[in-house]
Amino acid sequence: MRYLVANWKMKLTIAESMALARAVREFVERHDTPDLHIALCPSHAALSEVGKILATSGIALGAQDAAHVDRASLTGATSPLHLAELGVKEVIIGHSERRAIFGETDELVHHKAKAVLAHGLTAIICVGERKEERDRGEAETVVRRQARAAVDAGTPWEKLCIAYEPVWAIGTGTPVRREDAVAQADAIRDELGKALGNKDAGARIPVLYGGSVDGDNVRLFTQAPLNGTLVGTASQSKEGMYALLLALRTLPQE
Ligand code: PEP
Repeated sequence: MRYLVANWKMKLTIAESMALARAVREFVERHDTPDLHIALCPSHAALSEVGKILATSGIALGAQDAAHVDRASLTGATSPLHLAELGVKEVIIGHSERRAIFGETDELVHHKAKAVLAHGLTAIICVGERKEERDRGEAETVVRRQARAAVDAGTPWEKLCIAYEPVWAIGTGTPVRREDAVAQADAIRDELGKALGNKDAGARIPVLYGGSVDGDNVRLFTQAPLNGTLVGTASQSKEGMYALLLALRTLPQE
């Protein structure tokens, strides 16, 4: 299975999100997209309306964040329970913007992933080094630490997915080299295997790449051992989304 996960962040209005969801649905109805799992992650405010548009389309509804508990005095937060009720199937957890701007720690990411997985939702956990960490030669150490902290021996890994997103590559137009993404995916899988106490499980967890992916480079990151992409900017317009989908349509089956 190959993944294309669209992170619309807070870039689109509800009406724009609905129009883009309709356009993606139309594309999928008109063209074969073999072996491709598509998930659209609008802002929480747009989930309900976008969910109605995606119903029965085979395109998954995703969310960009979830609280770490089901019910609590947490003003402004969204419970995994709400997301499940809305028909959400996958949730991005620990995006670098949430880590940097909202101060989310490895520990909170761990609890959020657990809360999401407890409802049978897929947790797409983001890990990735910052520019200064890569420059200091610490890129692998950082993703190993983040991957290890995200799970424990009791984590139900069947619905776990990791997005390797080097912070310096997000929204910059400069993606990582494929070989560097592959090396980081190897390190992530190795670390997950150790933390889960199950090497085989670690090896089977899908690892996506995210950071300046577009229609011109998406194929590079959608071939084993990488399992697909988490896309921001290019997924936020019909043109960008169609370019991604057209590029993936002609990718030979593995
Ligand atoms: C992201 O923020 O998850 C992302 C990958 O953004 P972009 O595609 O714009 O680099």
